[in-house]
Amino acid sequence: MNANTPACPNLPVPTLQLREGALWLEERPLADIAARFGTPTYVYSRAALESAFTAWQEALAGRRALVCYAVKANSNLGILSVFARLGAGFDIVSAGELARVQAAGGRADRIVFSGVGKTAAEMRIALEAGIRCFNVESAAELERLNAVAGELGSTAPIALRVNPDVDPKTHPYISTGLKGNKFGVAFADAFALYQRAAALPNLRVAGIACHIGSQLLDPAPMAEAAQKLLDLVDRLGAAGIALEHIDLGGGLGIRYRDEMPPTVADYLAPLLAVFAGREEELCFEPGRSLVGNAGLLLTRIEYLKPGETKNFAIVDAAMNDLARPALYDAWHEVVAVTPHDGDEQVYEIVGPICESGDFLAHDRSLKVNAGDLLAILSAGAYGMTMSSNYNTRPRAAEVLIDGSEMHEIRRRETVAELFAAERTLA
Ligand SMILES: *Cc1c(COP(=O)(O)O)cnc(C)c1O
Repeated sequence: MNANTPACPNLPVPTLQLREGALWLEERPLADIAARFGTPTYVYSRAALESAFTAWQEALAGRRALVCYAVKANSNLGILSVFARLGAGFDIVSAGELARVQAAGGRADRIVFSGVGKTAAEMRIALEAGIRCFNVESAAELERLNAVAGELGSTAPIALRVNPDVDPKTHPYISTGLKGNKFGVAFADAFALYQRAAALPNLRVAGIACHIGSQLLDPAPMAEAAQKLLDLVDRLGAAGIALEHIDLGGGLGIRYRDEMPPTVADYLAPLLAVFAGREEELCFEPGRSLVGNAGLLLTRIEYLKPGETKNFAIVDAAMNDLARPALYDAWHEVVAVTPHDGDEQVYEIVGPICESGDFLAHDRSLKVNAGDLLAILSAGAYGMTMSSNYNTRPRAAEVLIDGSEMHEIRRRETVAELFAAERTLA
């Protein structure tokens, strides 16, 4: 087989292929990565990152629009730099993420700052950096931002994140646009808050924002939210408060198993229809859809442990590396990196952590031996960024594949680093 070998048709990662009896990502066997960098290691495909981003750019061609990558999905500098080179903006939720974007070469004037708990210190840092917009989530935040901008003698560009109260039909933990959750300001309060914002001397009303949830598979709720936002924009315009941009948040879902997410173009079509003929710049904050299927977690089987009711494959990755299965009961495809002949067995894929919740996958049929490598797919989003050092486990290395090149974009932590900031009692 050659470089044109089609991607495995049943695997959600576009640049993963079965070649010469083994899994390759772009032009590299995954086994090479394990040999050079060890396991567990997150592995990303540059081509997959770029094609995911370009799909957004192409679907928005001909419109004034900015795609702001949601940094919390995967904040590695190597990943951020790939998007910065493509002209991306960034959606951040902390001063830490702002520093990452700057370190990766991202432009401050393309950064939007989301989140319900921005501190005064974070506001100062973001104002001094000259970010594009603060997506403000409460009346109290509006007042604080006005005060902080006043102290600095500057003006803060703001959008109110409104809660359009539409049901995104996704997992309750990742649904954010319904009444009764902590995000955004109530739709009914938004008009009065805009009037308040317009009257505050150190704020400049720039736009409006919403983000209704994550892993959305149906474009209809987004189009419904967009229509609600637009009605509000028009009422504000009539009252003399003109908005320059409309930020529709992130949330487009990906295929983990058998989900059928719309293409970016199909997802955006009903939205763009709502905004046909409008002048406002559109802004989007995709996270998962840009990185989720561009990454996998490479892990090695330490032991096979037959049980009375279940067989376990105990691997060297764990819930501290990939929390989504334990946290959301999320499903990730698990494939053998070097499939071999023999009997298929059903396994629980578990890590070494002392928690019964430490599993990566349930009931998977695999032909594997101890020592084999497994690839846990669709792990590019909310994988490494949600990892921890629980059980004093150094976090995984991260490698970006670019053609046949392997770039170590984060080296594995050492145990000494894990407690370097700690002190024993004298
Ligand atoms: C998490 C988040 C995003 C990204 O969501 P995805 O589902 O990863 O696309 C975008 N905007 C805001 C405000 C968020 O909180």
